[in-house]
Amino acid sequence: MPSDVISGQCLCGAVKITVTDPSGWVGVCHCAMCQRWSGSVFASFPAAPETVTVSGPVKAHASSQLAERAFCGTCGSHLWMRDREETAEYDLMPGLFEAANDWPLRSEIYCDEAPAAFSLEGDHRKATAEQYRAKYPHAQEVTDNV
Ligand SMILES: [Zn+2]
Ligand SMILES: [Zn+2]
Repeated sequence: MPSDVISGQCLCGAVKITVTDPSGWVGVCHCAMCQRWSGSVFASFPAAPETVTVSGPVKAHASSQLAERAFCGTCGSHLWMRDREETAEYDLMPGLFEAANDWPLRSEIYCDEAPAAFSLEGDHRKATAEQYRAKYPHAQEVTDNV
């Protein structure tokens, strides 16, 4: 069971994040943008904006018309991806939070674009790029860039 409040930080410790009532699972995206930004496997977990508290030198890159990808301005650790509107959910990086070490993988998208080295096992939900775009035509920044 996830704890009610989890705390995380970037590599250098300058950015601190707390999340109340966290999801307790992670999802993976293998789209080209997430591969480039993460440098490897992009995993994240969703959190409503009112549950997230952030302090420290956050910088953000506007990665599309809709979304930005945030990182620590001191050490460069990736923090989250998010649409640029106040009500938008965060997609937070689980590696910042020790509590997330136990969380299962629940979903994997853009499976058909995954590098050969990263075939993830398990009975989690999987969707190809086409299946995902059909289901969420406006939900993800990747639709802007296809
Ligand atoms: Zn840092
Ligand atoms: Zn992606």
